[in-house]
Amino acid sequence: MAILKILEFPDPRLRTHATPVAVVDDGLRVLIDDLFETMYAAPGIGLAATQVDVHKRLLVTDVSVDKDAPYVLINPEILEKDGVIVTDEGCLSVPGYYEEVERAEHIKVRFLDRDGAEIELETEGLLAVCIQHEIDHLNGRLFVDYLSEAKRLRIRKKLEKERRQAAVVA
Ligand code: ZN
Repeated sequence: MAILKILEFPDPRLRTHATPVAVVDDGLRVLIDDLFETMYAAPGIGLAATQVDVHKRLLVTDVSVDKDAPYVLINPEILEKDGVIVTDEGCLSVPGYYEEVERAEHIKVRFLDRDGAEIELETEGLLAVCIQHEIDHLNGRLFVDYLSEAKRLRIRKKLEKERRQAAVVA
């Protein structure tokens, strides 16, 4: 297992549209394990392959308090959406920023699991929000895209400044 480097906004690679996974094999399962290790270490509740510069349609999530409810979603597809929920979202690729985003409250999603079996999951609340956030990553979309342009620019400038200062210190 390995902890992978997470790309940070405004890295243009985060804008890549990921391609479907063709085969669920041992190589992919190594990537899945690395995604979980990277997500838990961060710590975060979700991570899309896009965020570690692998442009395949695959994400991991675990929104449980005890970190014992891992889900891997390969080639996820939302079949149904219902209701509205507003939550403060953050993102490992936009460290330190939390903003309100509106999502569907309930979703039905179809995906392949780590054995390549097709699963349909109906879920709501935080897990539903997290899955929608991570599927956005696979489509090159970030939660800051839901904010006003002024707010997005402010976050971008602050992150770039922090990174420049970190470079000077290092
Ligand atoms: Zn994110």
